[in-house]
This record gives sequence, C-alpha cells and structure tokens, in this order.
Amino acid sequence: MKESRTIKDVVDNQLCTGCGLCVSESDGIRSMKWNEDGFLVPDIINVINDNSIKVCPFNPAPDEDVRDEDRLSKLFLSDSDKKDFKIGRYIGTYVGFSEQHRTSSSSGGIATYIFEQLLKNNHAQHLFIVKEVNGTYEYQLFSDFRQINKISKTRYLPVTLEKLFEIIDKLDGKIGVSGVACFIKAIRLKQHYYPELKEKIAFLVGIICGGLKSKLYTDFLVQNVGIKGDYSNQEYRIKDFYGSASGYGFGAYDAQEVLHTMKMSKVGDMWGTGLFKSNACDFCDDVTTELADISLGDAWINPYRKDGRGASIIITRSLLADELIKSGMKNGELKANLLAKEEVIRSQAASFRHRQQASKFRIDQNIRNKELTPYKRSRFFQNIPVEYKIVQKERRVVRALSIELWKKTKSLQEYNQKMDVFKRRLKKKTLIYSKIQKIRRVLKIKTL
Ligand SMILES: Cc1cc2nc3c(=O)[nH]c(=O)nc-3n(C[C@H](O)[C@H](O)[C@H](O)COP(=O)(O)OP(=O)(O)OC[C@H]3O[C@@H](n4cnc5c(N)ncnc54)[C@H](O)[C@@H]3O)c2cc1C
Repeated sequence: MKESRTIKDVVDNQLCTGCGLCVSESDGIRSMKWNEDGFLVPDIINVINDNSIKVCPFNPAPDEDVRDEDRLSKLFLSDSDKKDFKIGRYIGTYVGFSEQHRTSSSSGGIATYIFEQLLKNNHAQHLFIVKEVNGTYEYQLFSDFRQINKISKTRYLPVTLEKLFEIIDKLDGKIGVSGVACFIKAIRLKQHYYPELKEKIAFLVGIICGGLKSKLYTDFLVQNVGIKGDYSNQEYRIKDFYGSASGYGFGAYDAQEVLHTMKMSKVGDMWGTGLFKSNACDFCDDVTTELADISLGDAWINPYRKDGRGASIIITRSLLADELIKSGMKNGELKANLLAKEEVIRSQAASFRHRQQASKFRIDQNIRNKELTPYKRSRFFQNIPVEYKIVQKERRVVRALSIELWKKTKSLQEYNQKMDVFKRRLKKKTLIYSKIQKIRRVLKIKTL
C-alpha cells in the first residue's frame, strides 16, 4: 500500500515550488505566503481529509493513471505523433524568432507572439501570464492584444497561480496560461480531476526552465548593481543587441527611480551552479515542459547564441500550436525553420545531464538521508561516473548554502567573502569532471 502524504510534508521537505494549486483545493482556507528562504509556499493549516496533494506536481505518491509526465502527456497530448526519450511527445521542433516581438522579449519573442495569436484569433479570450504590477511581477489576467508587449519577458522571481482558479470560476471565455514545467503539470493534474477545465484552459505555453530562483536571488543582483535599499521594476534579460545572446544584463530602479544595470557576466555562472535555486527543482526531470501545448526556450546553440537579439527553440505538442508556428512562418511574421530535435536537445544539454541523467543519484541520496522524494520516472535512472557524483554533491551544498548565507548576511560583501570558497570548490570539481569527460571521449569510453 502506498504511504499517503500531505501538502505539509511537501512544504516541510522543501519540495514546493509555489504553484499554488493546493490553495485552489482548500475552500479558501489556505493562501500563499513568502517563506524566509524567499519562496512562495502555502500557508499550511492542517485540514482534515486534506486531499489537495492530488494536484501537487511534487506528490510522492500520485494516482497511478497520472503518476508522471509520461502518463499525463498520453492523456493530454494525443495529437503528438512523435516521442523522444528526453523531450517527450511532440509534433515539430523549430528555431526562430518573431519579427515584431524579438527585441522586446527574453529570447525570440515567440511566447508573446503565440499569446497575441491566441487572443487575435479568438482561441482564447484571456491570458493568465506574469506581468508587472506595482513595480514587481505577478501572475495576472490580461485580455488586450493591442498591448501585448506589456506581457513580454521572463521574470526570475517566484510567482504563483494561486488566483487562477478563483478567476476562472467567474470568467466567461477561454484562457491561455504561461508556466514552467511544474506549474504546467499542476494545471494538467487539475484538469484531470476537473475535466470541465480542459476546455476552459485552452492553451498552455511552456517556459523551459533551468530552475526556479528564490526572491533572495533578485536581492543579491540588486546589491550587485549598487542599489542599497528599495528597488523596483527589475529587468532580468537586458539584451546586448551587438553582442552574444548570453551577454545579457540585469537592471533595477532604485528608490529615486534611477536605473542601475550590469552585465550578468559580473556575477559569474548563476544557473549551472544552482545558486539560490529551489531544492524542489533538483527533483524535476521535465526539462522541456513536456505537458504544454508549446515549449519555448533559449536557442543556446550556434549560430543563434552568437546573436544578442535572441532566438527561441520551439517544441510544438498540439495541433493548434503547430498550426500557429507554421502559419507565422508562412506569412512572414516568424523567421523560423525546422530544427532537428537533436539540436533542440543540445541547446539544453547541461539541463538534461543534471535533471535527467543525475536524477537517480540525488534520489538515492535522499533515500539514504531518509528524506521525502517526489515520484519520479525510473526510465531516467542511470548510474553516473564518480567525477559527476562529486559535482552533484557539491552543487547541492552550494545551492543550500547560497540561501542560508544570504539570509544570515544580507550584505553582498560578507556574502561573497563567505560564499567564495564554496563557489571555487565547485568550480574546481566541475573542471576536473569536464577534463575526465574529455579524456573519456578521446579514449572512446562512454560519456554523459
Ligand atoms: C525561472 C526561469 C528559468 C528559465 N530557465 C531556462 C533555461 O534553463 N533554458 C532556457 O532555454 N530557457 C529558460 N528560461 C526561458 C527563457 O528565459 C525564455 O522565457 C523563453 O525562451 C521564452 O522566451 P520568449 O522570448 O519566447 O518569451 P517572451 O516573448 O519574452 O515572453 C515571456 C512569457 O513568459 C511569461 N513569464 C514571465 N515570467 C514568467 C514566470 N516566472 N513563470 C511563468 N511565465 C512567465 C510572460 O508573461 C510572457 O508571456 C527560463 C525562464 C524562467 C522564468
């Protein structure tokens, strides 16, 4: 018999990414609140017969028929005629950008373009997307395609779908939603248990995600641009049109509304190292938002990454999604072309290695430490070489420490002083791992 768990177990074990779907199951008893680690989590009040775990994307004991992305994609994406071990079900894989939205978007502006088309062509009458409100960013309802540029750009700040199901109940018409993998999975679970929502939530735009960052990450970046006190309207992806795609910058406004900016290269690798990342993200093996109608990410491959104006990798998984991309290509609104799925995979190679290939190692660690683990797809389980195990161990230490130390110091100088030694240690171990992998390649021994 499977052991039943509650949302409290998920939150207590740092396995919550703040989607807020459990709030929609709580009859108004719960709400989302900021925790001291800088994440949004449900305010846990023990509810008798609480079954809200059924819509939690990190449920350790899900119902068999919806236990993972493979089962869910079979239920929801039956139009997908192809299947790949790493990216899941799909119809087409592309690369490109929107002529109109590229420069004001994070990557190729495809998310903004798709949302515009959904509204213009009446596939949906409303969007639930992340947009500025009072100087910060939150999910909110949006319906005016003439102002579509206001919804562009990805925000590396915790957000929550908490209000979506409150709104839906009172809303006429269909809705399109953007979300990272765990949020999209939560919506699919909700649609499964409440089938009337399948029509109502008509389209899901998946934002390919390398890990959710704590709000402390933004506080850290803000101090790096030289702001000491309050800040607002932070920009996470300021493009360098004449440089490379990865040469983007960060900026924020201080209390006097002066904009401070910096290149992200000033703070070093913030993604591969897992700094300020949610612990739960180490237990997500869905690299390309496998349950969305369309999945969008950065084209981190040549020649696209050389172009600072940005380009998107695109995976279509429903007929409507594929039709929107193809018609955009035909009428010239999109400059895009087919891209071999192997190239799409290559553009997210590091994420596949960490999230899928090393998932067994982290789960084994959890089991040894008697820590709760979400249900995960065993088809990804594999043994990894010792040099990568060492990197994995160190990443988990650095991730947790980055949050603990910022909480304690809240000062950039002190934080950097204390964190530096751990960052250097991780860098060294990563370098050794890369060198051994290179040697393996030369000797034609299996690599990751
Ligand atoms: C936390 C996070 C991690 C990411 N990690 C990776 C990665 O590892 N690899 C990769 O290739 N790409 C990653 N991305 C995606 C990348 O930043 C771009 O968002 C994506 O390529 C879409 O670009 P676009 O130009 O088409 O989007 P745009 O046209 O700029 O539109 C972005 C859309 O996303 C919505 N949005 C903004 N912030 C959020 C949010 N936090 N959650 C949900 N929706 C949001 C906006 O409302 C808008 O509709 C990440 C994004 C996020 C939020």
